[in-house]
Amino acid sequence: MTIYEADWVCPISSYPIRNGKLAVDNGKIVPLPLGEGGRAREARARQGEALIKGAPGEGRNLVTFPGCAIIPGFVNAHSHLELTILRGFLEDLSFTDWVPKLTRTKYQHLTRDELLASASLGCVEMIRAGVTCLGEVMDLGTAWQAMRQFGLQGIAYQEVFGPAESQADEAIADLQKKIDAYRPAQTDTLRLGVSPHAPYTVSPKLFQAVNRFAEQESLRMTTHIAESEDEGMFVRWSAGVFAKRWAERGIALVPAGCSPLAYLNGLGLLRPEMLLVHAINLEDTDFDLLRSKQPALVHCPKSNAKLAHGVARMPEIRDTGITIGLGTDSVASNNVVDMFEEMRAAIFQQRARTKQLDAINAESAFRMATLGGAECLGLSKLLGSLDPGKRADFVVIDLTDPAVQPVYDPITAMVYSASRHNVRATFIGGREMRVDSKDLIEECAAIAERLMGLHKK
Ligand SMILES: [Zn+2]
Repeated sequence: MTIYEADWVCPISSYPIRNGKLAVDNGKIVPLPLGEGGRAREARARQGEALIKGAPGEGRNLVTFPGCAIIPGFVNAHSHLELTILRGFLEDLSFTDWVPKLTRTKYQHLTRDELLASASLGCVEMIRAGVTCLGEVMDLGTAWQAMRQFGLQGIAYQEVFGPAESQADEAIADLQKKIDAYRPAQTDTLRLGVSPHAPYTVSPKLFQAVNRFAEQESLRMTTHIAESEDEGMFVRWSAGVFAKRWAERGIALVPAGCSPLAYLNGLGLLRPEMLLVHAINLEDTDFDLLRSKQPALVHCPKSNAKLAHGVARMPEIRDTGITIGLGTDSVASNNVVDMFEEMRAAIFQQRARTKQLDAINAESAFRMATLGGAECLGLSKLLGSLDPGKRADFVVIDLTDPAVQPVYDPITAMVYSASRHNVRATFIGGREMRVDSKDLIEECAAIAERLMGLHKK
């Protein structure tokens, strides 16, 4: 058993503990042994008495992190590791140009090995940023390989595309093949899911077929929804840029005459196993749908803002009682994987929009970035907070940085002042992850060099 102690232990499921300890055995968090703690220690700390220190008990190691806080590993509930190589490649394009350029580059200019290097670089970035669990949306499956190699937990949702109804059967056969191939490597906390991409790339028939497939195979689902106004026009009126592209390809269009969320509901996809991504453009009646169907939602405030999509109505969404997590989305639309920045963006955007202080507060943002994300992925019984029985996926945050000092309250100090640069160590399953990324960085730089010519096209 190893006992980790720090100035603060923040379980997230309960209040931060001053001079706290975390006991880890066999990759799991275990109750503190007698004499080490729990309530008695908390009481001592509150009364300002000195903490009893000394040699650890028999068979126990003691690791101390002075000036640090121990928090659960962040759950980044929406990412696309495979797109890491496209950071900075699609800057300031309109969304309707961003999507096809991304797709074209992925399929026509990158090999599978290059996409594996891209996903691997993404994994290194996540670990260094204190992320231990992902809601990963992958297309070519290299993310599944990279997540396993780097020890990241979470759900890897296999993406599905197919705007023409005639593509649906083939898309499902292909999906079945991929899921069958990946499934043997599943664990309790690294699982597969499925992701019909979005209404403007997936036919209604395919949406329903993927939904049936997910139910049959007991797989969770995620989909991008209500992200852009172009998508809204496409769904309601079969109008706008996306509709034009379908028409050019000779694909039949049938206006749904409703909001994207109502459209998903009409297809039977709104249920608790569905994780919605974005949900920016919601209509008033959509909130009733959220309330009654209880899908989960991952909020991506920085990506939403960078792509000029707007600000999701988070307090109203929260009031429907649905589960909410926080995600960075890909670095092709965010650039910086930093869950501290993401928490700040979530809070500041809502306060700016609503002029209400309690729109989102620091505690609820921190919960969204950890336990809330775990709930979104259906993994909260096994990870997401520092409770005995859960996986020892935790992160040590250095609070001695002058930019973070002084610390009156660890949660508000971290949410409002810290950054990924304050991540001192990331533990996954009780093991500190130390990754040497030199070769990987060189490999990715060489790929980028090759893509350079396409950059401005
Ligand atoms: Zn996405």
